[in-house]
Amino acid sequence: MTHSETLFEQAQKYIPGGVNSPVRAFRGVGGTPIFFKHAEGAYLYDEDGKRYIDYIGSWGPMILGHSDKRIKDALHAQVDLGVGYGAPTSIETDMARKVCELVPSIDLVRMVNSGTEATMSAIRLARGYTRRDKIVKFEGCYHGHVDSLLVKAGSGALTLGVPNSPGIPASLAELTLTLDFNDIEGVRETFKEMGDEIAAIIVEPVAGNMNCIPAAPGFLECLREVCDEHGTVLIFDEVMSGFRVSLGGAQELYGVTPDLTALGKVIGGGLPVGAFGGKREIMEHISPLGPVYQAGTLSGNPLAMCAGLTTLNVISEPGFHDRLTQKTLALRDGLKAAADEAGIALTVQGAGAMFGLFFTEEPSITRFDQVMRCDTERFKKFFQGMLKEGIYLAPSAFEAGFTSAALSGDDIAETIAAAKKVFATL
Ligand code: PMP
Repeated sequence: MTHSETLFEQAQKYIPGGVNSPVRAFRGVGGTPIFFKHAEGAYLYDEDGKRYIDYIGSWGPMILGHSDKRIKDALHAQVDLGVGYGAPTSIETDMARKVCELVPSIDLVRMVNSGTEATMSAIRLARGYTRRDKIVKFEGCYHGHVDSLLVKAGSGALTLGVPNSPGIPASLAELTLTLDFNDIEGVRETFKEMGDEIAAIIVEPVAGNMNCIPAAPGFLECLREVCDEHGTVLIFDEVMSGFRVSLGGAQELYGVTPDLTALGKVIGGGLPVGAFGGKREIMEHISPLGPVYQAGTLSGNPLAMCAGLTTLNVISEPGFHDRLTQKTLALRDGLKAAADEAGIALTVQGAGAMFGLFFTEEPSITRFDQVMRCDTERFKKFFQGMLKEGIYLAPSAFEAGFTSAALSGDDIAETIAAAKKVFATL
């Protein structure tokens, strides 16, 4: 028995399914989840001492790689000053200023503790601001485990086959209209029929919870247009894409400006952080300025702000995202070439430092139904083969992959060599 197997057995006695977030349980790929002991740069080390090249990066936050010295130093210094006060600190203003500078659509920003809180609060704010109840989301997009948003969602909800979780009142789910991602016509028709009743559209501009599907040309523009026509709030969920697909997020990459943005992952540098922000006129409806209530005991926690702000400062260095995108493209191209050589039908796509691997004959994936037709059995075998080779990919065919600045050319070459070996066995 490996240490991970023993630890997983113990964990299951006290933690539901042995994990604190479902996709970690490896249900989508079989086998035992790996328990990790430490991490450094591009590598994770498990409890048995095995090294893995990491393409999950704690599900997105570790854009600099693990145990970055600059983050560790900032955290150590803050620990000496105190780990939290529940009162204002100057670092919160520094963080807010930085976010507003990097994402120009954000005039005011409120820090929270997770991506879920960020989307939940953005939805409440949009409803409070418009005095409307209905919202639009897209099938396969995941926005955290918010009641209103856990309707036809992606990520673990897809892997586990529970797109509509029990415990969500039908009367609430009813207010969530789910449309097809990248379907411009569907959006236009819905808005023609009931646009004036819709408080918000929430969308992942690069969908990363049904594998990785960037918005098709014209799709985000269409969302902006219908929102303008009908007084609907456009919310970009950039929890994954923010500070990752480019410094200013997907809104910078695609040149479409939302009213509100939800952020998470990179903004916390590995600590539990989320944020939502946007147009001053809308954000001024949040308490204590306005009547829409939102709060948090640990929100703006100094340790979390330290790790996040240090990360944002480092990734603001000129050329950071160009270099990271180039690395990610080298990985994508190498994997595609290796699959072609082995006669394996594989489509590789992505945006910036996000990528997706689809076992399919279809050359481009833009829709949810195409994702559902991919060969998940083949993915499982690929995943397990890569794991044996020391390559740690997301344990689900429905999650995007993430790269980090710590990855070297050698790491990428090692990953492609491993994939060649595994493709030969599929
Ligand atoms: N939105 C998106 C796009 C996400 O990918 C996630 C998490 N993967 C969330 C929201 C929820 O974030 P959290 O898990 O921090 O609550």
